[in-house]
Amino acid sequence: MADAPPDPKPLSPLDKDQRQGLKAIREFLRKRTSYDVLPLSFRLIVLDTDLLIKKSLNILIQNSIVSAPLWDSHISRFAGILTATDYINVIQYHCQFPDEMSKLDQFRLASLPDIEKAIGATPIETVSVHPSKPLYEALRRMLKTRARRIPLVDLDEETGRETVISVITQYRILKFIAVNNEHNTILLKKTVRDLQLGTYTDLAVARMGTTVLEVINLMVSRNISCVPIVDSENRVLNAFEAVDIIPCIKGGAYDELNGSVGEALCKRPEDNPGIFTCSEDDRLDSIFDTIRKSRVHRLVVVDDENKLKGVISLSDILKYVLLHGEEDDAA
Ligand code: AMP
Repeated sequence: MADAPPDPKPLSPLDKDQRQGLKAIREFLRKRTSYDVLPLSFRLIVLDTDLLIKKSLNILIQNSIVSAPLWDSHISRFAGILTATDYINVIQYHCQFPDEMSKLDQFRLASLPDIEKAIGATPIETVSVHPSKPLYEALRRMLKTRARRIPLVDLDEETGRETVISVITQYRILKFIAVNNEHNTILLKKTVRDLQLGTYTDLAVARMGTTVLEVINLMVSRNISCVPIVDSENRVLNAFEAVDIIPCIKGGAYDELNGSVGEALCKRPEDNPGIFTCSEDDRLDSIFDTIRKSRVHRLVVVDDENKLKGVISLSDILKYVLLHGEEDDAA
């Protein structure tokens, strides 16, 4: 006769709290809509696809934004979101077709799909969500497609056409969770080490002297949005993010991409919050505290000597909060 399966190990108080916290946050995400994440008043800058790519850079910089929804005024339709990834594609196009520099200068935002095709990049699927759908749904869609932002698209009652209400990012959603769930996030007492939150092996890193182009190639080949900058002792000095590319190529300065990462980081806007670090012993609730108080886009995990151990992206945190032990939720 086969042995009966052993009784499951009883949950520790730490495990129980963690489960309860996650369950409550997931319920919150099912009850709230994407619309709830929006502030009472906000601006939305939408760019026409007839705009020259080089002009779009100035508009993003002048307005201190790093992405914008696109509008095709010929067919009055939403045409996707312009992000740093599009500029990375433009840079790769420039590298692959250096003789086409003058043509590149005349490219409009409508040419972005052609650029993507020419360099053989995998198109990013633009998923959108209706603003009144549960936030949980928007997040599931974002995690499935690896999108870092999702447009909220509604139908205009008069014209019956699509209208972009706003765009919400992973950061906005995590902030919304953090601000409205202090009583639940406090239950998440497990540490980064316990949860194995983030990536700790085969980390992509660069030095201050690495060229911007090399870092861009690293981000493309590894499909990541940030590369920590370390010294010869693996101590963390900074991190180069995909959005740091935007000021680098302002005015079509593609040749400056041969400059160093160190120089490029000096072009960051003055209000840039810099990088956030944590240790493997930090608890998830303290990470939520940091998100509640600051504009965090990722955390670099360091040891006591500030040496690089890992990277925690917002997608790692969202994936854990939304999907960890999901089947437990049904019980
Ligand atoms: P992100 O592109 O920041 O959304 O991260 C996507 C995934 O790649 C996440 O699971 C991160 O933990 C991981 N990741 C982010 N940056 C790096 C890096 N520099 N090296 C290795 N993995 C990374």
